[in-house]
Amino acid sequence: MTTGLTIWCSEAITLATVLLLAWAHDRKSPVYLVWALGFAVSAIGFALVAARGVIPDIWSVQIGNAVALLGESAWIIGFRLMDKRKLKWSVLLPPLVWLFGVSLPWVTDNFLNRVVVYDLAGAVGATLLAFAVQPAAGRREPARRQLAIVFTVLACFCFGSALWLVFAAPTLEQALIYRGYTALGYALLVVVAIVLNGKLLMERSERRWRAISITDTLTGVLNRRGLQESYEILAGEGQQQQKLAALLFDLDHFKKINDRYGHQTGDTVLVEFARVAHQFVPRSGAFGRMGGEEFVAFIPVDEQSEAEALAETIRADFCRGPLPAGRSLVQATVSIGVAVMPRDAVSWDRLVSAADRALYAAKRAGRNCSIVFNELEAANDTDAAPAANEGELVPTLDDQIQLLRRMGTLSRM
Ligand code: GH3
Ligand code: MG
Ligand code: MG
Repeated sequence: MTTGLTIWCSEAITLATVLLLAWAHDRKSPVYLVWALGFAVSAIGFALVAARGVIPDIWSVQIGNAVALLGESAWIIGFRLMDKRKLKWSVLLPPLVWLFGVSLPWVTDNFLNRVVVYDLAGAVGATLLAFAVQPAAGRREPARRQLAIVFTVLACFCFGSALWLVFAAPTLEQALIYRGYTALGYALLVVVAIVLNGKLLMERSERRWRAISITDTLTGVLNRRGLQESYEILAGEGQQQQKLAALLFDLDHFKKINDRYGHQTGDTVLVEFARVAHQFVPRSGAFGRMGGEEFVAFIPVDEQSEAEALAETIRADFCRGPLPAGRSLVQATVSIGVAVMPRDAVSWDRLVSAADRALYAAKRAGRNCSIVFNELEAANDTDAAPAANEGELVPTLDDQIQLLRRMGTLSRM
């Protein structure tokens, strides 16, 4: 037993040192520090337990085991901090269950009862760990489920061990032999959990790097790489709608905005445009920054009018009033090129270049407007500038309201 405890102590101190070094490398998150403290505390606790007979019993039995169980509390805190979840007092349950149990005279004076209480406290800790690590929305690394299973097995193992001691009522000698085996099983499961935790950390950082690699740093929307990935999904099988529309946005006279108000104000305008446009793009589509002051939205549609309506909604909302950018109020507008293609004939190059030609037509039409290329015009594969009669000006929202009013007046006549 003492040998086992000593081995665990040195293992825990090694892990605590490695985690401390990891924390020193990246001090932004306290997770590694808390886990390092957890292993250090666990090592101290088990060292006190191993020193039974050398130090007073209260230090070895009551305090030693409580300190060892406090290590489990630290691991739970680490998982909650990792997911930015609130800390609850319940994380202290493992040492509290032990301290409460061991305060009862018929537990303090009886080795078997103490082991039962320790196992119950361990089962509570493992259950809390299983809950702390479980997958939830946005936290779907495969290792989480595996880790939750290992902690659940650990909880059942501790609980089963406590039950066996209560109902089998072994002799002290049998209990000591049995304790050696259960400690070995417990240590094995903890080692498996440590390995899986390493896997979870790797999967988590992989997920973060992936998110960074597809996100535009200034505006927080998808960058070109992210757009290309989303496009592949939207153009692929499994979509209900038969057509794919591209809306290419280019802010008007943006160079002048930069020149007049400064580059930083220009950046604020870009961020504001991304915010305004993104909120209107349906979840079934994708929105991102192509580069500079150009953005694009891809949306699966049944009718061309759905893409037109989206383009006009975004254009009208963006130019509604001057934008507060730092100390300035900036009036900015956007031109939009819209192209629609049947999904079975679509390709990134053809769809984006058709939207680009529609955008060119919108700039030529005076800016702050949307021009749509229907399926025939979009299919007309050419690098040349669009002819003057190509594309159709999407009626502005004001035009559409006027038209409805006129129709209402006519119907009353
Ligand atoms: P047009 O109406 O024809 O589109 O005119 P424009 O001035 O918007 O077009 P042009 O392509 O001549 O200028 C684009 C400008 O966008 C030039 C560049 O300095 C600016 N720009 C590109 N990326 C950024 C950025 O990240 N931040 C800021 N502030 N400006 C940028
Ligand atoms: Mg441009
Ligand atoms: Mg521009």
